[in-house]
Amino acid sequence: MKPPFPCLWCEETIAPGDLMHSALPGYHYACAMRAMLGPIAHVQHRCSCYVSGSEEHDPPGITKRQAARIVADYVNQQPGKN
Ligand SMILES: [Zn+2]
Ligand SMILES: [Zn+2]
Repeated sequence: MKPPFPCLWCEETIAPGDLMHSALPGYHYACAMRAMLGPIAHVQHRCSCYVSGSEEHDPPGITKRQAARIVADYVNQQPGKN
């Protein structure tokens, strides 16, 4: 698939030139990371998988794309590059 088309994760348009994930075409790079790794709370071991009774998930009040960027930035330590 060639951009533009809607991202399979966040449903926002992937524009030509947007960073995509080579292993998961169809996603923004950040969204592929989020789809594979789970919410930031899971990546940081704050979710119910690790903390009994935790309701931490994607941060409330932001878009799926923004939540994905948080995961990708956390993993890559390269803010703004996805
Ligand atoms: Zn996306
Ligand atoms: Zn979890």
